[in-house]
Amino acid sequence: MRWALIGASRIASSYMIEAIRAQGGDILSVLSSDAARGEGYARENGIGRSLTDLDQLLADDSVDAVYISTTNEKHHAQALAAIAAGKHILCEKPLAMTLDDACEMVRAAKEKGVVFATNHHLRNAGSHLAIRDLIRSGRIGEVLSARVFHAVHLPEVLQGWRINDAAAGGGVIPDITVHDADTVRFHLGEDPQEVVAKAGASGMGQGVEDSVMSVWSMPSGAMVESHESFTHPFAGTGIEFHGTKGSLFARNVMTQEPTGEIVLVDADGEHAIPFAKHNLYEYALGLFKGAVAGTGAPSADGVDGIKSLAVALAVREAAQTGQAVTVNYGGF
Ligand code: NDP
Repeated sequence: MRWALIGASRIASSYMIEAIRAQGGDILSVLSSDAARGEGYARENGIGRSLTDLDQLLADDSVDAVYISTTNEKHHAQALAAIAAGKHILCEKPLAMTLDDACEMVRAAKEKGVVFATNHHLRNAGSHLAIRDLIRSGRIGEVLSARVFHAVHLPEVLQGWRINDAAAGGGVIPDITVHDADTVRFHLGEDPQEVVAKAGASGMGQGVEDSVMSVWSMPSGAMVESHESFTHPFAGTGIEFHGTKGSLFARNVMTQEPTGEIVLVDADGEHAIPFAKHNLYEYALGLFKGAVAGTGAPSADGVDGIKSLAVALAVREAAQTGQAVTVNYGGF
């Protein structure tokens, strides 16, 4: 598959370029709004062409798929243009700034008949695949509750638009709560119904929240509590599921690396759960490639991207209003 990158981003240079190539993909071009930075980025990453004009990039018939990893406010227009040009889309989360925009992107891809995937990496991790299998097989019985710990310290080098620019989609809710919403949906196979939340801004940045805690009610009756932050240097990450027959404790698994440990506790005691340690992004790219070839589905599709955004928007509204908010999935 031949790819173009829309966005000369850090996530692409840190993870995605390597993952695309590991799955046999060729990266033909990269789009940057800044010609000099784009040229430098292309040179450093072994990409043949850098362009500043999206239409020119999309006019290249040899490009099969695009990976969109610009700042969040740009995803919508760039995705619609790429869909119109018949390209398959792997789009970063959050898909868009509004639910209507995300729904429009996903509907447009469906009408055009192109694959549309959302880059929710966590559900590709061996740890999360193992957790989901245990829950689905009934090993912990009926799930009563889940707790997500995703309070990290935003590295200084990432303390730009994410923490200072609401118009670019900054804030910990669009950045991390979307991933946690996707991960909980992935494990429980159901969508949060109603949320309450509190958010705070410590002063790390300007104009956006850097910490949030929320509680979600699920259709099954399960309750979820979720904590995301940019300000916690030593908290570590994790996820827990508590059921009528057992509890799952997973530590250091809300990360980009294939790390962590999982312990199942039940009436027989504690059991360490083994899991595969593959690269999360390569795994996602493999499924994306299969979907384009017509032999499967992406790990997270467009509807998954809509739903994770819907939960994040509800959490933000709940935090801003102090009211319980029913999650609006835009008809999906
Ligand atoms: P970056 O800040 O690295 O890049 C975003 C945009 O900022 C780029 O498209 C680029 O614009 C511009 N930019 C990059 N470097 C510079 C620079 N030195 N000076 C000026 N402008 C610069 O963003 P991230 O890679 O952190 O995030 C990009 C997207 O990916 C977001 O949507 C984010 O939510 C998502 N993401 C997803 C992750 C995942 O695991 N799924 C992890 C991290 C991010 P231009 O392209 O015009 O040159």
